[in-house]
Amino acid sequence: MSSYDDVAEWYDAVQRGGTIVQDAAMRADFTRLTCDRELICLPKKRFYDPYCMNVAFGPRRFSVGDGSVKERWPARFPAFGGGQGFTLIELLVVMSIITILAGMMLPSLSRAKEKARQTTCINNLRQIGIALKLYVDDQSSRFPPHIVRDPDELHLRNTTMTMGGYDPQPRLLDFFPSAKARPLYSYLTPSEVYRCPVDKGQRLAPLKLKPSNWSSIGCSYIYNAGRLATLEGGGFRQTPDDPARGMAEKSESWVPSPVQYIFMHEPPARLYATLTGPEWYQWHYSRGTTDLDDPTVARAQFYSPVLFVDGHSAVPNFSRSLMTDPYYPYEPTRDWIWYKSADGN
Ligand SMILES: [Zn+2]
Repeated sequence: MSSYDDVAEWYDAVQRGGTIVQDAAMRADFTRLTCDRELICLPKKRFYDPYCMNVAFGPRRFSVGDGSVKERWPARFPAFGGGQGFTLIELLVVMSIITILAGMMLPSLSRAKEKARQTTCINNLRQIGIALKLYVDDQSSRFPPHIVRDPDELHLRNTTMTMGGYDPQPRLLDFFPSAKARPLYSYLTPSEVYRCPVDKGQRLAPLKLKPSNWSSIGCSYIYNAGRLATLEGGGFRQTPDDPARGMAEKSESWVPSPVQYIFMHEPPARLYATLTGPEWYQWHYSRGTTDLDDPTVARAQFYSPVLFVDGHSAVPNFSRSLMTDPYYPYEPTRDWIWYKSADGN
């Protein structure tokens, strides 16, 4: 009984008339000859059980159809007592390929999902834009007010965060108007159109609009009217035309550039002043925390879907203004204008 390091040598021995003996010694070196045209062999030097653990290295199959010996990786081999099945190494290879593919696809999948959510907001804002246009046409070309009087009460309530949408939570009725008192109520009735799908809410200490603006005040989008918050020591590089009201109740012709002038936006577009200090937010593309006390150390970018006065929507990146120039975050850029200066620009 001989055993061979080199399978070609072994095959030659078989061809010369050697007999394959299926004894224990033989099995210790090679698996058996499976048919006339194919030899299934294992390397001689191994330290594993040939019939079970050999899958750890995988058997080599030697095709001898044309007389030469060719080594190829087997698709299957008679492991575990001769049945047909995948080897462990094959399964591991397939699993690792699946893992790699999944790893490659998941980020693009989540990017695609984020794009879809932005598209929802762009469409919502477009519809809100149409309703606003109808409102303005009915009001002799004047934009909505930033304060309304609730029909049931005498209080004046700020409506920049509630152009439309559902009633606020009862605890917030002192601060936000009911659905019926909102400017767009009869133009675009309360519906999901007022909802940003990634609305993460605002702390707005002490109001706490959580878990979302939508669930607490019935609207995710904000009207660019009323006073814009600034940091102490900062503000506007040009004198604003009407810093207390902005575009509220102004005529359409007041707006310097309708294609750039922001009409509606989401909280991440700008800064908020509250009892406990300034606040910034991140909704779309947010990572980790969505409420920020310092925009310069934010982990994500400040993206906000925006409706412009001319009726078109886009998703500008406000990071540059908020992170590199937080004291003057409202200066005009090529893409947007937040306020009108006293000299008309
Ligand atoms: Zn949104």
